[in-house]
Amino acid sequence: MKKSAAEILLPRTYKEVWKRGEFYVSAKKVKIIKAHEKQVKVAVIGEKKYSVILKFSGDGIIKQCDCAYSLDGPQARPACKHMVAAAICWDESRRIIRPSKKDIDSHTLTPAPISRQGIINLFKSPLRADLDKIRIIAEYSSWRPQPHARLPNMPKISRDSRRPLKISEIKKAFSEMEKWAERSLYDPYFCAGEMSAAFCELLDVIKKRIDKTEAGEIILIIALCVDWFYRKFNKLIDGIEGVWIFPPVRIGNIVSILIRRHPRDPAWQKFNKIVKIAGESANKKNLNYRVVEEWKNEKLQNKSKNKS
Ligand SMILES: [Zn+2]
Repeated sequence: MKKSAAEILLPRTYKEVWKRGEFYVSAKKVKIIKAHEKQVKVAVIGEKKYSVILKFSGDGIIKQCDCAYSLDGPQARPACKHMVAAAICWDESRRIIRPSKKDIDSHTLTPAPISRQGIINLFKSPLRADLDKIRIIAEYSSWRPQPHARLPNMPKISRDSRRPLKISEIKKAFSEMEKWAERSLYDPYFCAGEMSAAFCELLDVIKKRIDKTEAGEIILIIALCVDWFYRKFNKLIDGIEGVWIFPPVRIGNIVSILIRRHPRDPAWQKFNKIVKIAGESANKKNLNYRVVEEWKNEKLQNKSKNKS
């Protein structure tokens, strides 16, 4: 029996996107360049000319398009309209009927609670990003969300701004978060957003409790956060969607506040020692409090591009 590319693509596509793909076909904007039994190359004329390749692989399909939405994205990203157009056109060239309206209604992906633009905005101002949206980025970006552990919103720690913060509280919070990653359904990709958001919540508590905490103590606490970021956090998550960026911009923000308040505190020396070693563990040379301060502007030495 002939395989239908559209049928495989349907559950990996948002309904709105599907309709736009169909439109390209009915407007005759699609042209098959080369077709084999298992693979097709198609040109789709949209705002410009896009090149789509679809290839059957096992029960699935490998899909490629050079539009801005799909280019360099993970295979897990839902299909773009050009891929839909290519699949329908390829099927019809092999006399396979396209999915009915009923099929489209019942098999396409349910729309994500955040829009693509909403996600772009999160990364535009990471310091103000809505943590609940960060928690679900991977689910949005994937066409086949895996069942995965739901993590707590944050580790247990007092939010009371009248209480001085102690290093031991932070260490306890970190070890709690490390245990989350041992849960049976912990998934470094799908849980990355929740892990990142929880780290952000912890940093927000630290910021809230700055006033009552002694300078030397809070400076060391932030050094430990940098250390944990490099040595643990980055290993516990698959940050391919870029969610790793949110905690460091908060760390940079807190460090800039501390530098303003305690510019000559002797604890900075110890801070520099700790972060230098932590940075070297991730091949970041000569990390110090001035460099970390710049993180608030996202001037991390490893931009998300290098990580993905
Ligand atoms: Zn495309």
